[in-house]
Amino acid sequence: MLKLDLNRREFLKISAGAGAGAALAMPDPGRAAVSSRMIGIQVGAVSFVDEGTEKVLDVLQERASVNTLFLAVFTYGRGIAGRQIPGQPLPDHGKQEYDLNFHGGNFATPHPQYYKNTALQETRAPDHGDFDVLAEVLPAAKKRGMKVICWLEDVFRNDLPNIEKLQEQDLYGRNADTLCVNNPDYRNFLTGLVEDYARSYDIDGIMWGSERQGALCDSLGATHDTPPVDPAKVTCFCRFCQSKGKERGISVERARQGFLELEKFVRSTRRGKPPVDGYYVQFWRLLLRYPELAAWEMLWTDSLRETYAAIYKTVKTAKPAVPVGWHIWHNNSFNPIYRAEQDLNELSNYSDFIKVVMYNNCGGERMALYAENAGSTLYADLSKPGLLDFNYAVMGLKEGSYDQIPHTGLSTDYVFRETKRALEGVASSNTLIWPGIDIDIPTGPGNSKCTPQSVKRAVLAALGVGAPGVILSRKYSEMRLANLSGAGDAIRQLKSLG
Ligand SMILES: [Zn+2]
Repeated sequence: MLKLDLNRREFLKISAGAGAGAALAMPDPGRAAVSSRMIGIQVGAVSFVDEGTEKVLDVLQERASVNTLFLAVFTYGRGIAGRQIPGQPLPDHGKQEYDLNFHGGNFATPHPQYYKNTALQETRAPDHGDFDVLAEVLPAAKKRGMKVICWLEDVFRNDLPNIEKLQEQDLYGRNADTLCVNNPDYRNFLTGLVEDYARSYDIDGIMWGSERQGALCDSLGATHDTPPVDPAKVTCFCRFCQSKGKERGISVERARQGFLELEKFVRSTRRGKPPVDGYYVQFWRLLLRYPELAAWEMLWTDSLRETYAAIYKTVKTAKPAVPVGWHIWHNNSFNPIYRAEQDLNELSNYSDFIKVVMYNNCGGERMALYAENAGSTLYADLSKPGLLDFNYAVMGLKEGSYDQIPHTGLSTDYVFRETKRALEGVASSNTLIWPGIDIDIPTGPGNSKCTPQSVKRAVLAALGVGAPGVILSRKYSEMRLANLSGAGDAIRQLKSLG
């Protein structure tokens, strides 16, 4: 069981720079030495190609005391595997141009024997020729005593051979860009992929992330995504999900009717046409009439959990010593329904570690976007400031006003509270919580940007409350070096205090 190190008052003292020594130097046998904690960073192949492997490892060790690399080995998303997003300023290292031709895929070498039971065969990323990021980085990292964890993401593109066979289907039966975890071709692809990494390379762990939710939350637009999902395009209603729904005793036809009614509700609320009894009451009227809406959401959530469990079991069978864990989407900090679905205690049954995203700098802008999205459907009766007051109360947060937070980000107290909550969520298990801290994740013009001090305070908050590690996110190729050093300053300060 993890012991929490500091109470909130003690933490506020150190983060304010007062009494730091007193708070941290108190003998506490439950606190792991800072030197033994996991200091991780997410980094993609492009950084090693652009800057050279030894150079990148030098920078990460010297500036931020990184001891664990989360290599973006599989994704079709530029967000974790490419260079800076076009239009955002390039950081002060790496190639000074945008990768407009980013493609993505498997940045290591796929071994065909692990993909016999799936239609998805050709996934090797063409971005860097024959470059295999694991073959390149593993030996160099091991020589330095650094660990390497494979970081995989549930993000695909729709121009891959056979991809249509794995895609989800929306409310109207059209193929979506997302893949269905209940489709055997996708499930087998994922288990094959992690078995390939576990058996083919001498890795120190696997982390998979799926930044998605079910049809109910998506229909309500209950995320920070812009624009929110179209309520006609919510998923999944493919034949595999339909038969799984039937097995659970859910009427597929009733579910579909419910979502069609919900689509009408969402379209009309977004047009600003208030129902006679108000938005919130009207939503509840729908949910009570169609409890299948909630049942379909839970079917999606349970299917994701089964996928976690299948990945876990596959890796443990292949190589029992390889730790397996998950990246939990930032929506966990905004949408209370999604938070309810992220039951860390339940997840701990098949998790060696969980990265809980608590990106505080971009969190302000994202919290405001969530308020705009959910505040034009389910919570349209509330003013935006009123909605945030409600949200902070039910989420256990104490943050700035709707007008302020895009410009200030969320506070260090947010990181403190989220870390503490997550640690308590897994307290009866051996699962480790590694908070995800943002360094230079792009925000809109005029909105809050990271500074060395803000990064330092966030890392101090996470480690100060007792997290056994942190993951600097979301990729080295978008981080400014001084801000990366801010993370290192926090670690050096904690080390100096013992
Ligand atoms: Zn499906």
